[in-house]
Amino acid sequence: MSTRIADLDAGGAPLLGEPLPVELANTRYAVRGVPHEGLAEPEHLAAWLRDIAPRLSAPPSDAALLAVDARDLAAALDLRECVAALLHAAMTDTAPAADTVARLNTYTRAAPHWRELTWPTATTHTRAEPIAAVLAELADATIDLVTGPDRAELRPCHGPGCVLHFVKNNPRREWCSAGCGNRARVARHYQRTKNPPRM
Ligand SMILES: [Zn+2]
Repeated sequence: MSTRIADLDAGGAPLLGEPLPVELANTRYAVRGVPHEGLAEPEHLAAWLRDIAPRLSAPPSDAALLAVDARDLAAALDLRECVAALLHAAMTDTAPAADTVARLNTYTRAAPHWRELTWPTATTHTRAEPIAAVLAELADATIDLVTGPDRAELRPCHGPGCVLHFVKNNPRREWCSAGCGNRARVARHYQRTKNPPRM
């Protein structure tokens, strides 16, 4: 079983070490300007959850990941839509639709959780289904993000053809990734010299 978990196809969605809500929004990405869906199949969601599991306070078990189904995927995509709309609202300093806020809140409400001390660390518990619990954690992290200090540092990447977002965690950071920075430099060079860019 553990082999199958390791073999799950991640669908190509990039993980950049951003806050988890940004990572979720970034599962809709682009390659050279062509949109790609990183969560096209339940397997992709399972692989993505596997890959972010070390960052979750209540990571799903391998069995829960292998049981991810179309309903879980639909919920994750619905949450992603809410998150993307909230990130957009935060970046443009506009109010999101009331429905978006209400939908986000249904995800946190669906999985009340509590912590227990398991000396010398703590363990988070919930009675919710494992994937519902993860979506609740992602929704909760979204609330932290759009109400906390990182909100002001949310940025869309302006790399050529890129649709990702990132938190500008240092004043000199301009791109979601080094790859986008390189493509942007190549594109600028092309504009100066009219030599065809090799991206
Ligand atoms: Zn980028």
